[in-house]
Formats: sequence, C-alpha cells, structure tokens
Amino acid sequence: MRNTDLIRRDLGVLWHPCTQMKDHEWLPLVPIRRGKGVWLEDFEGRRYLDAVSSWWVNLFGHANPRINAAVREQLDELEHVILAGFSHAPAVELAERLVEAAPAGLSRCFYADNGSSAVEVALKMSYHYWRNLGRGGKRKFVTLSNSYHGETLGALAVGDVALYKETYKPLLMEAITVPSPDCWQREPGVDWEAHSRAMFAHMEATLAEHADEVAAVIVEPLVQCAGGMRMYHPVYLSLLREACDRHDVHLIADEIAVGFGRTGTLFACEQAGVTPDFLCLSKGLTGGYLPLAAVLTTDAVYQAFYDDYQRLTAFLHSHSYTGNPLACRAALATLDIFRDEPVLARNRELAAAMYDAVRPLEDHPNVGEIRQTGMILAIELVRERAGKVPFDWRERRGLKVYQHALSRGVLLRPLGNVVYFMPPYVISEPEIALLGEVAREGIALAVRD
Ligand SMILES: *Cc1c(COP(=O)(O)O)cnc(C)c1O
Repeated sequence: MRNTDLIRRDLGVLWHPCTQMKDHEWLPLVPIRRGKGVWLEDFEGRRYLDAVSSWWVNLFGHANPRINAAVREQLDELEHVILAGFSHAPAVELAERLVEAAPAGLSRCFYADNGSSAVEVALKMSYHYWRNLGRGGKRKFVTLSNSYHGETLGALAVGDVALYKETYKPLLMEAITVPSPDCWQREPGVDWEAHSRAMFAHMEATLAEHADEVAAVIVEPLVQCAGGMRMYHPVYLSLLREACDRHDVHLIADEIAVGFGRTGTLFACEQAGVTPDFLCLSKGLTGGYLPLAAVLTTDAVYQAFYDDYQRLTAFLHSHSYTGNPLACRAALATLDIFRDEPVLARNRELAAAMYDAVRPLEDHPNVGEIRQTGMILAIELVRERAGKVPFDWRERRGLKVYQHALSRGVLLRPLGNVVYFMPPYVISEPEIALLGEVAREGIALAVRD
C-alpha cells in the first residue's frame, strides 16, 4: 500500500474527529503504518516525531515492549466480560493499584471507557449523592472559564471552550462559570501564586452565593490543556479544597490530561496536597494503548449509594466496555513502568531540556509567553507582545507551524496560536533539541505577514 492509496480510500469513507473535512482538499492527511517509541512511520518510510503523544495519551512510546507483552498475554486469557455481576483480575488489581497511587482518601474505583464518560460519571454521582442525602436541590455545577471536560453533552456543558461549545449551547444544561486563575491573564509584575490566589475571590463569592444549589466544582488541576495549555498555581487548588469543604460542595478533579506524571507529579492534585471527592482519569491511564477511564471517589460517596435495592439509591450507570480486561492490563503494565523506573526524576531532566530547546524564543516579538508545568510546555504566539494582542484566529497561524513541522518530520499540532510540546516520556534529549529547532523555524514562518 502507498500513502496515496490510503488517503484516497480514507477520504472516500471516513469523517475525522475535530476536523473541517474540506481542509483536506489542500491539507494532506498523514497515513501512519506503524509506530515505535516516539516515532510514527508512514507507508513509504517517512517518520514523524510524535510531540503531542497522539493527543496526550501516549506515555512510554508506541509499541512499548512491556505494554505489548502484557496486552498479548491478556489476549489469550480474556478479552472482555460484562462487569455487572461478574469480575476479573485485571479490573480488581488495577482498582487496587489506582487507589494506592491516588491521593489518600480515594478508596473506590468506578470504570468507564473514555474521558468524557468519566466526567459524566462524576457529575451524575455527585448530584446523585446529594439527592440520596435528601438534598436534591444541589444540582448545579461550577466550572472555570476556558475549561475543557470533553464533548458529550454533560461534559460539554461544564466546559467553556467556545469553539467546541457555542454551537450546542441550546442543548446544554447551564453551568456557573467562574473566571479562571490562568496566569497568562496576570498583570505584569504579578507572580503566578499571587495571581491564582487573587482569582480565588471569584470562586469564593460564587460558592458563598450558590452553595445550596451546587453539587460540585469541576476543575482541570494546574493546566487547562484544550483551552490552550493555560496554567495556574497549585495554591488555587488548596484554597478550592478548603472552600468546597466549608460550603459542602464536591470537588471534581479532571486529571484526564494532566494525570500520570504530565505535571511533574503522578497526579497534579499532589502539588497542592489535596484529595478531590472525584478524580477522573483516562488518556495516559493505559499508556495510550486502549480506551479506558476510571473515576476514583471516597468511601463517604460510596456509602451514600449503599442500601437495600428497594430504596433505589444505586448508581445505575454503565458503559458496554466498562473495565475492559485488555485495557486494564495495558494500564497495569503502565503502572509497572512507573513503579520500576525513575520516570518522574527522568522527566525533570527532560522538562529542563524542553525549556532549553525553546529558550531562544524568550525575546521573540511574536512570543507572548513560554510557560511550562512539568512535561507540558507551551508557546503563546501573539501579534504584539505589549498588551498580549492576539493574532486573528482566522489567519490560522498555528496551522502553519503544523505544516512546517510535518515537512521536517515532526508532529506538532498547535491549539490555535499556542504551540506546545507534550511528548511521550521516552523522548531523548537530541529529539527534544530537534523539536525546539523545528518549532523555532515553524514559528518564524508562521508569524511572517
Ligand atoms: C481529553 C479530555 C477529556 C475528554 O476525554 P475523551 O476521552 O476525549 O472523551 C476530558 N477532560 C480533559 C481535561 C481532557 O483533556
């Protein structure tokens, strides 16, 4: 098979995610035949460095030998079984290990099969918890501006990225949106901590006013990824935990993108020393192999549903592939790698190398900011540095970086005008240097008028 054959057949039948298909009249699809480590390869041997971890899911490389072996072994034992009334070892062992690894106090694991579904589970469980306690009036959710929690209607309703949400607004439940602590928005001379702390006043006022009707606050801890890799200081999470307790409101931590070491710690919440009432996990959970999600929660939540069947307090929610054994085995192999190798320590070196690779852009007139939290580094392109004047979105500057990077064998996929690196943890320092070089070239081309 040749690249062109696959592209032709693809465009004949497929409808791609998050894509204006008409773009493919001039923007070629990239067919991929196989992957190894951080590299993807097409049908003619051309290689691409996967700098976005295939949409933030891959942790330890494509075709990772340990994960491959685990999935192969599982394949000969059990591919899938209903998880209602039945059980299997990979689901149990993974739940045990997630509970052990997660912030203290999260003692129950409910599985789903993708990130949006995990968010739906957390929202429904939170509302249902209050209802079981006779407080059914607590049915609203508080979210941060520019947040992203997935594309299904419930998850979309508690998100705030206009590009994805605006069209569907008439279909969505109403959420209470509070200004984000995003530090890109801070005034000159104010540090991240002071800014994030000051922004908490909005949250405090909202909770004080609405606590009686609010079930939960949902946040992406430390990095609002889909919203353009916007970052904030952990102090906001500490303040939020304390305020949620005081106002009798749940805290849902959506670590679907930031979990599993992306921010420097295994879970981002650790940096604030907080335990959420619900922790949503997916993406990196299986090392980027198979769709799986988990919602971890507390015994207090679990107990509010535990009663005689006739009282109708059970959580009657399911997805067909809930706790799929192959996916659970991939997740277990992923956790084995975290256990056996100094992943987080090595990532600190890689993160420093990532910054070094883009340091020459610090003073670039079209770079508004370079920001980084652990293994996520973002470069905000602007028309003018002073006043952070953005480029018009219709100019699609980021897309020019994408195109240039592809021509140089790198998969960089900017979010609007934000160029970012979020590579698998098996990337090498020379590969990081290549990323930096290609990003610098791409930016130079993209900002030209
Ligand atoms: C990707 C993402 C989701 C949605 O996960 P899907 O598996 O794509 O449904 C939810 N929340 C955050 C923070 C994400 O990055």
